[in-house]
Amino acid sequence: MSRILIIEDEVSIAELERDYLELSRFEVEIAEDGSQGLDRALHGDFDLVILDLMLPGIDGFEVCRRIREAKNIPIIMISAKKEDIDKIRGLGMGADDYMTKPFSSSEMVARVKAHLARYERLVGSNGQAANEVIEIRGLKIDKTARRVWINGEEKNFTTKEFDLLTFLAQNPNHVYTKDQLFREIWDMESVGDIATVTVHIKKIREKIELNTAKPQYIETIWGVGYRFKM
Ligand code: CA
Repeated sequence: MSRILIIEDEVSIAELERDYLELSRFEVEIAEDGSQGLDRALHGDFDLVILDLMLPGIDGFEVCRRIREAKNIPIIMISAKKEDIDKIRGLGMGADDYMTKPFSSSEMVARVKAHLARYERLVGSNGQAANEVIEIRGLKIDKTARRVWINGEEKNFTTKEFDLLTFLAQNPNHVYTKDQLFREIWDMESVGDIATVTVHIKKIREKIELNTAKPQYIETIWGVGYRFKM
């Protein structure tokens, strides 16, 4: 499912846009100012951004420029003034499309779909192999980019935490002893022991679990080890 970020300070407009996009089965998140929007765009996992020009904090021009520095995802800029649209076009901000308020919701949805389809073709035609991704109940692991998201929110993982989580997620429902995991993830020369595994599991749980006392992903099998629940 495609995820869309709406950066818009007028809540009623943002909610209207969201409702129409959700009817078309998109997953939508709203950011109500420029800095929050920029932060979500850079660190969240979105396929397209709908960006209002006039925003408190950082304005739409700057948000667009900074998203573009980091990401290729389509950006549709929204403005209340036709003149502003001409101005942004002239500046070559890197937006993919522009719409003037008020616009019809069906037109917005149509443009969103068109840009997503075009972007997918573009990415697909790069000759690049798609990233290898594991997705399990809100947990997304991009093995190629070595990045992890939980419910769309990116989390930072150390190398070993990433390797351990990925190993377990790739082998779900298989119980591993701490010893096996240590040998699997750390090479023989590594300093450490099975306590290292326990510490890493704890850190991984703090990042991916809602309630670390009741883990949804990595289960402790008492007296044996761990298992990734499928
Ligand atoms: Ca605005």
